[in-house]
Amino acid sequence: DLKPRSILYLDGVSVAFDGFKALNSLSFVVEPGELRAIIGPNGAGKTTMMDIITGKTRPDSGEVYFNGEIDLTKRDEAAIAQLGIGRKFQKPTVFESHTVWDNIELALNRKRGVFATLFYTLTAKDRARIEEILETVRLTHRKDDYAANLSHGQKQWLEIGMLLAQEPKLLLVDEPVAGMTDAETSETAILLKEIAKTRSVVVVEHDMGFIRDLGVKVTCLAEGSVLAEGSIDFVSNDPKVIENYLGR
Ligand code: ADP
Repeated sequence: DLKPRSILYLDGVSVAFDGFKALNSLSFVVEPGELRAIIGPNGAGKTTMMDIITGKTRPDSGEVYFNGEIDLTKRDEAAIAQLGIGRKFQKPTVFESHTVWDNIELALNRKRGVFATLFYTLTAKDRARIEEILETVRLTHRKDDYAANLSHGQKQWLEIGMLLAQEPKLLLVDEPVAGMTDAETSETAILLKEIAKTRSVVVVEHDMGFIRDLGVKVTCLAEGSVLAEGSIDFVSNDPKVIENYLGR
């Protein structure tokens, strides 16, 4: 049984909207410390899958477990976030009129329950953690700049840094490299692999060059269930994947 040893366990998850099955018996397992890539055509159910994991949508049937034994279908969004599941949406939502440093500091304070305030004295440990996060997301040299002045790619990294400040055990990342330059895209692959050394990461992406750079196990969804799973070479040579996704 894979459940006790998994960070994320989905089995037979289905959900329908007005009779349309957005997820149709979706099953896959992510191991602790794993970085997993999810691909698939528009409408495959990738967003719905993230919504189910984060408690935004409830499945009609199926099992969704976190960290071996925690039943996510019985918890609401706030409780699931508290458990240590972070989600990065496609569009960056950084505070443009604050500096890069302050954005991370705000995120750190938010984890403490201090509501969006900078009037909280940081400990030496806090400062060290902020510096460490800035290093991870390649923004140390921009720490005193306003977030508004960052490139689109750097804003995405800043938001990843803000999520790291919440110390999630599992990070869900939706299309991080959309709109990034080629250089930012390859840097993002390296960055996510570094992040996955200390937590599990599930990343949804369409950019096949990026997926290839990641070099991790890929799950291809179509019509709400898993079409193929394995290495990028295995998945991209699967006739069903070519027909439903790559060949389009
Ligand atoms: P993807 O992220 O892979 O593009 P989605 O999960 O967004 O796929 O969508 C899967 C299918 O479910 C789509 O056909 C979409 O129109 C439908 N769907 C998703 N959310 C809703 C909703 N809240 N109400 C109605 N239909 C939805």
